[in-house]
Amino acid sequence: MALEGEKKETHVLMVAFSAQGHINPMLRLGKRLVSKGLQVALATNEVAQSNSFTRTVTGVHLEFFSDGLSLDYNREANLDYDMESIGKFGPIDLSALIQRHCKKFSCIINNPFVSWVSDVAAKHEIPCAMLWIQPCTLYAIYYRFYNCLNSFPTSENPQMNVELPGLPSLCTEDLPSFILPSSSVSSFPKMLYELFQDMKKLKWGLGNSFQELETDVIETMDEIHPIWPVGPLVPSSLLGKEDATDEGIDLFKSEDTCIEWLNHQKPSSVIYISFGSLLMESPKEKESIATALTRSGHPFLWVVKPSDSKSEESEGTMPLKNGMGDQGLIVKWSPQTQVLAHPSLACFLSNCGWNSLSESITAGVPIIAYPQRTDQPTNA
Ligand code: UDP
Repeated sequence: MALEGEKKETHVLMVAFSAQGHINPMLRLGKRLVSKGLQVALATNEVAQSNSFTRTVTGVHLEFFSDGLSLDYNREANLDYDMESIGKFGPIDLSALIQRHCKKFSCIINNPFVSWVSDVAAKHEIPCAMLWIQPCTLYAIYYRFYNCLNSFPTSENPQMNVELPGLPSLCTEDLPSFILPSSSVSSFPKMLYELFQDMKKLKWGLGNSFQELETDVIETMDEIHPIWPVGPLVPSSLLGKEDATDEGIDLFKSEDTCIEWLNHQKPSSVIYISFGSLLMESPKEKESIATALTRSGHPFLWVVKPSDSKSEESEGTMPLKNGMGDQGLIVKWSPQTQVLAHPSLACFLSNCGWNSLSESITAGVPIIAYPQRTDQPTNA
């Protein structure tokens, strides 16, 4: 029973996989809940802690749980094994975290890559919501595919046009790679299958998108398993808010030179190139991009992530060796949202990860789409 004068507090626990593109939309949603007077905690696997949280969201309390692997284990090299391990050890640690929390959580919000969280929530009799971090279109496609509601390409009929309510006709190349018959077996399609087959565990579906962008497809899900768009979950600075603190984290340290360099370029002149946090361009792709950039004559800002192996490290700096140094700036990681808001930017050559697209759409920067896998072809 609440004591007289004591304010009834609502506590919400958010749980995200430790990737930048997963944690940041959660943090931005968390900040909005805090602004409505809720108490919010965000839990992620503890490797993010060692990867240095450089910023935190005011008011969102950060918690960490173990994925059962040592902190120096190279998770990127074996994401499947990481997913398996987190699914085995995460629930134990998360359960303990819920139990030792001072107040009962009123709601848990998970995201698709930690779908086991809904079982933990059920065990503690806490309602669970999911923040879907891709477009609502992908939510609709996966739901229909995994529940066999429509026809999709098969090994016998790999090339076909797919007709789905609320969407334009999609050819095979427009579909997410996980549902194609050519997709290799990995933990991700398995996880999506389990998620979309058993959505009863989720009380609410929230989408990192906005109604006006995907009106028709959102409406088609109303009668099946609704999704409420609560986005775009991008930094407030991109939305033109006065309070421009970027409520996100950087899992890599961005290079300070970027903005200074952009300040010296002509308005709407720079081509920005980035392939997100997970993909690496192959040496051949880097070479093709370098050739195209040289021919375009435009200044460019190119994010080329270093890799672990020594030989690939030298490939990482390959474009500079082609004598492109004066035309552009090559960095290992950029402050992307600040870059997209910069007046000297002309366009963004992007792999079409959903965070990058949402940021670019919000900033009004035209995109040259270079999609590769998962949701990227459909996003493009
Ligand atoms: N990002 C950044 N600096 C970079 C490249 C990317 O800050 O040099 C951020 C970008 O703003 C976005 C996220 O990393 O928020 C990448 O997410 P996205 O969904 O685009 O791609 P993913 O990393 O999931 O492939």
